[in-house]
Amino acid sequence: MLTDKVALVTGGASGIGAAAATIMAKQGARVFIGDLQEDLGRTQAADIGGAFVRLDVTSPDDWAACMAEVEDQAGGLDILINNAGIAAGGTLETETLERFNRMLAINLAGVFLGCQAAVPLMSKCGGGSIINVSSVFGQVADQFSIAYSATKGGVRTMTKAIALDCADRKTGVRVNSIHPGFVSTPMVASATGAMPDDVADAYGARTVGQTPMGRIGEPDDIAEVMAFLASDASRYMTGSEIVVDGGFTAR
Ligand code: NAD
Repeated sequence: MLTDKVALVTGGASGIGAAAATIMAKQGARVFIGDLQEDLGRTQAADIGGAFVRLDVTSPDDWAACMAEVEDQAGGLDILINNAGIAAGGTLETETLERFNRMLAINLAGVFLGCQAAVPLMSKCGGGSIINVSSVFGQVADQFSIAYSATKGGVRTMTKAIALDCADRKTGVRVNSIHPGFVSTPMVASATGAMPDDVADAYGARTVGQTPMGRIGEPDDIAEVMAFLASDASRYMTGSEIVVDGGFTAR
């Protein structure tokens, strides 16, 4: 349970982040959703009795304002889920530096900025739990999305570096990464929606075929594990990585 804990979920307006926000609210947390999508984010926050903060995770000023608002409204912060992210395909031949840098700014620098902004506030309140959202493509590579693989690999190792720093400085903040496999969310729907129907069908069949459990994940499959990492049940875990992928990387 997360009774009376204060949580911030970036990218909480949609997909996995929305599921995490919902489960944590059900478990008694006071939840803030930080997202670029204001209408969806406000609706989602209202549905779960939480609050919405407009946040672009690439902006240090937005992070400072967000932390100030959370502290002002809730008095502190116990849980941060650095979940906001984008996905796009691109091979070595087709990827551009501009798109590569944009992906780095959101998926990797956004996580760095979140940790940098949150640790002082969490530490002031006696500690907390940060969950950085990587991917199976932070464990194994996807040749068709090299920028995405680079960012998610970066999140994996950076999480360990920040966990070591937080432990060394006795901040009381634990930092772990989670590595979802394929999950049915708007991110995946927009990627497959951009494909011709036959290509999308083949992609879907191949994805399920590569997943030993025989189905792609649902947002709640990931969110339940996030809630565990957020809770005191994971109190001896820091710098760890949890793969939640239906067996995708077990082969
Ligand atoms: P999604 O597109 O449904 O949700 C992502 C959210 O992030 C959106 O609400 C979007 O507005 C927000 N966002 C994007 N850029 C932002 C920014 N600069 N600042 C603030 N918010 C921003 O995607 P999802 O599938 O729920 O993905 C959530 C996380 O899970 C991502 O980090 C993604 O890489 C990761 N992931 C997803 C899958 C999958 O199969 N869906 C698999 C592995 C990892």
